[in-house]
Amino acid sequence: MARIGTGYDIHRVAPGGPLILGGVRIDCPFHLLGHSDADAVLHALTDAILGALAAGDIGELFPDTDPKYAGADSAAFLAAAMALAVKANYRVENCDVTIVAERPKLSAYKRAMQERIAALLGVSPTAVGVKAKTNEGLGALGAGEAIAVLAAVLLTRA
Ligand code: MG
Repeated sequence: MARIGTGYDIHRVAPGGPLILGGVRIDCPFHLLGHSDADAVLHALTDAILGALAAGDIGELFPDTDPKYAGADSAAFLAAAMALAVKANYRVENCDVTIVAERPKLSAYKRAMQERIAALLGVSPTAVGVKAKTNEGLGALGAGEAIAVLAAVLLTRA
């Protein structure tokens, strides 16, 4: 009666803020490049829910070739995945997110992300793990050229 899903996303960094991550606006001299608002946290979580449902992936549901999704608020993608879960009679038991970002320092924003994600998933913030780490200076992530996110979610029968 439980289903697990994982998600991964990565977006390139580009000059000019703000950075949108975990549904939170972060004042920062750069942003993530993408067709939508490029919120890699919400994208990875959306894919984790779709994965748990065996319902495809975010690229299938919201193609980045569709002008409809240009500049889209990624909260809408997560809400759509949640709606599929609810329709299939599942709810989120808990989720866990790891953000790999050399910069900015995210510790001051983790709580806000946790609360925003909880609200989007209809769960308590205690069911939402948000962790941030660097890539120890290694590779493109370590050079701050991109931000990557890993997510896991557990769905249970509602
Ligand atoms: Mg993405």
